[in-house]
Amino acid sequence: MKIKQLLQSTYELLSASGIETPNLEGEILLRHCTGFSRADLYCNLDIHLTEPETERFYDCVRRRQSGEPVAYITGTQEFFDTTVTVDKHVLIPRPETELLVEESLKSIQPLTSPVICDAGTGSGVIAICLAEHNSRAIIYATDINADSLVIAALNIRNHGLEGRIRLLHCDLLDKLPVKVDLIVANLPYVKTCDLSEKCFEPVVALDGGAGGTDVIERLLWQSRPHLKSGGLLMLEIGFDQQNRIVDLVNRYLPGAAVMFKPDMAGIMRLAVVTT
Ligand code: GLN
Repeated sequence: MKIKQLLQSTYELLSASGIETPNLEGEILLRHCTGFSRADLYCNLDIHLTEPETERFYDCVRRRQSGEPVAYITGTQEFFDTTVTVDKHVLIPRPETELLVEESLKSIQPLTSPVICDAGTGSGVIAICLAEHNSRAIIYATDINADSLVIAALNIRNHGLEGRIRLLHCDLLDKLPVKVDLIVANLPYVKTCDLSEKCFEPVVALDGGAGGTDVIERLLWQSRPHLKSGGLLMLEIGFDQQNRIVDLVNRYLPGAAVMFKPDMAGIMRLAVVTT
């Protein structure tokens, strides 16, 4: 089949399956299977894919039709100004998490040698963005899930950051060997009852317990001895969790100040805790 026919038929298949961006996703899958750039694809609309190539492409389309996210099919996700490898063991980085990265970078800017902990690092993407944009930063990145640490290690190596990001297999801050200036975390914060039944991403990366804040609470409880004086926490949170976060900060870090920043959709997505 010609590329233009494949694009058209994929558009029809994906829209019929209720996919919201069928053109874009069909294009990404076709680029994944052909190795073409976007420009190549549109300059070669009349080229025929071979039978095995077409078969492989439709296999990807079928996976997408069954609900699997494009990032897991292609094995990569763009975030901030970089690209990371992802698989089913790690959360797919979301655009709203760029706010956490931007604000963290601003907060460490004045420091001469910032020491940071990315708790629950998943793919490692937050630690990687911070290390790439602040050449003085030393980062400890932790995860309780050994499978996700394999992906994080791969991403750190691919970005040449082995000397700057140290991975630790532990629960949140449990094995953190030093005090840090900043703790960043995009922990699970979805209420258990809100988790979708057909979720392709690891439940352990999303499930924040009955109220959604169980893991964030554990982090706040652990954090005091791991922060330098005046240290900060930057936490991604869910849309209805502000009051709960204020209560938890007051309980575990009395005297600390907490403020919230909205994401591009106007949702209070980031809690900034100053101790
Ligand atoms: N924003 C994600 C979602 O709603 C949740 C990410 C998280 O729990 N850290 O799917």
